[in-house]
Amino acid sequence: MMRELDYDVAVIGAGTAGIAAHRAAAAAGAHCVLIERGPGGTTCARVGCMPSKLLMAAAAAAHGARSAGLFGIRVSGVAVDGPAVLGRLRTERDRFVAGVFAGLEEWPDSARLAGSARFEDGRTLAIDDHTRVRFRAAVVATGSSPIVPEPLQGLGARVLTTDTLFEIPDLPDTLVVLGAGAVGIEIAQAMARLGVAVTAIDAGDTVAGLSEPDLARQAAEIFGAELDLHLGAHVQAATPDGDGVRLAWTDRHGAAHVTRAARVLAATGRSPNLDGIGLEAAGLSIGESGVPEFDPRSLVCAGAPILIAGDADAWRPVLHEASRQGRMAGANAAALAAGRPVEAPAPWTSLAMVFTHPQAAVIGAPYDPDADRVIGAMNFSDQGRARIEGRNWGGIRIWADRTGRLLGGEMLGPAVEHLAHELTYAIAEGLPVQDVEDRPKYHPTVEEGLGSAVTEIKQTLSRSSSCHNRTHCA
Ligand SMILES: Cc1cc2nc3c(=O)[nH]c(=O)nc-3n(C[C@H](O)[C@H](O)[C@H](O)COP(=O)(O)OP(=O)(O)OC[C@H]3O[C@@H](n4cnc5c(N)ncnc54)[C@H](O)[C@@H]3O)c2cc1C
Repeated sequence: MMRELDYDVAVIGAGTAGIAAHRAAAAAGAHCVLIERGPGGTTCARVGCMPSKLLMAAAAAAHGARSAGLFGIRVSGVAVDGPAVLGRLRTERDRFVAGVFAGLEEWPDSARLAGSARFEDGRTLAIDDHTRVRFRAAVVATGSSPIVPEPLQGLGARVLTTDTLFEIPDLPDTLVVLGAGAVGIEIAQAMARLGVAVTAIDAGDTVAGLSEPDLARQAAEIFGAELDLHLGAHVQAATPDGDGVRLAWTDRHGAAHVTRAARVLAATGRSPNLDGIGLEAAGLSIGESGVPEFDPRSLVCAGAPILIAGDADAWRPVLHEASRQGRMAGANAAALAAGRPVEAPAPWTSLAMVFTHPQAAVIGAPYDPDADRVIGAMNFSDQGRARIEGRNWGGIRIWADRTGRLLGGEMLGPAVEHLAHELTYAIAEGLPVQDVEDRPKYHPTVEEGLGSAVTEIKQTLSRSSSCHNRTHCA
């Protein structure tokens, strides 16, 4: 016998987006329920942002000890205790997960349901075979799952994903990381710094999501110096080899290679958790990628009073977007349920980061070599603060339109996480380069590097405007 329940708003998925959606809907006065099929605790805290950064923090400590010689400091006998590294990771990770649950404890039982939700129609959800939920509006916040590419399927525990990686008892001796995007390169570099022999293979031409050619080339060189990195390479087959894996792959020139590794990490992307949740039964219009058509401003899907937020919409699969989209979707779901108009504010300026050393960041309008833009560049090789710390790699490329309005940029270098925020806010506020240049920059900081790139744009613009006003320009 199915239990029958009625809510204004039903939220599917108790991840970052779903929790934010439920809170926003409840704050707007809706009677709402949050439905979760798994252990909860969020992807970010349990298997994503936090454990990956914990692994990288341990790697940075090992690397710092090994490279202290640069400063005249002798550290001998650096040893990595794999179980201890992973033990601390899990202890701290568990604290973050517990923090998520602590935030949910004050909720009444009626606000949460355990089970897998599936739409029966555009107004009804079935939760497993025990509960039927009628709703006025629903939020799909089901997150995403790692993709395991075809050659790696069927190899059991030899193949890791980020869902299983942080549970291993010890570090493997050898690891192939398939995929050199944000997740793949972060883990590949961390593992290499922890003493694992890492081979990273990616079918594309760039690392860490960078596309500006000079930064992308520098990134490939920098990371390639620490691990065996192959771009433009394709895995042909993977077979068990004892407890490990034997990978047959071809490099960018078509030459065949075989690599044996104790473990392979599939880091080739994530796909939204939308299979089997009955999107068609709900009457949604499904796009080619399998994601429902939705308005990125209001997050309302076409065809039913259903909204989508976070990794489930595959639009900007990062934490701050999941949180913001969740809040927006929850508030708008409450509005739909109450018959009020929804809000549709402009999306945030896009911001993506990779926490390798050097860090990478991609901000705002993507790099486009054919667009009519002015580019400002600086390299960290001779930048004061970067040299002081022995971290003088990479650079900054930012672009503006011909009026000097900042549009976007890419960065590779020390502490660019902070510079990326600064640029993001400048773009969001529609600031011209002149205004960004005319701000204090303490010395010696990497912020001065951003100032140099901005100044280059300003100088190019002023040269081209004085050129424009003269008959002849050299
Ligand atoms: C290794 C790794 C590192 C990362 N690092 C960063 C980083 O440094 N910075 C950053 O910004 N982002 C990072 N991310 C991305 C970030 O973690 C995600 O963008 C974010 O956690 C997505 O949140 P979400 O709420 O959309 O999904 P989730 O937190 O995954 O929540 C979705 C929930 O829905 C549940 N669910 C699914 N289907 C159903 C169903 N049918 N019924 C009921 N429940 C269901 C799932 O069990 C899950 O609990 C990283 C991701 C990974 C994997």
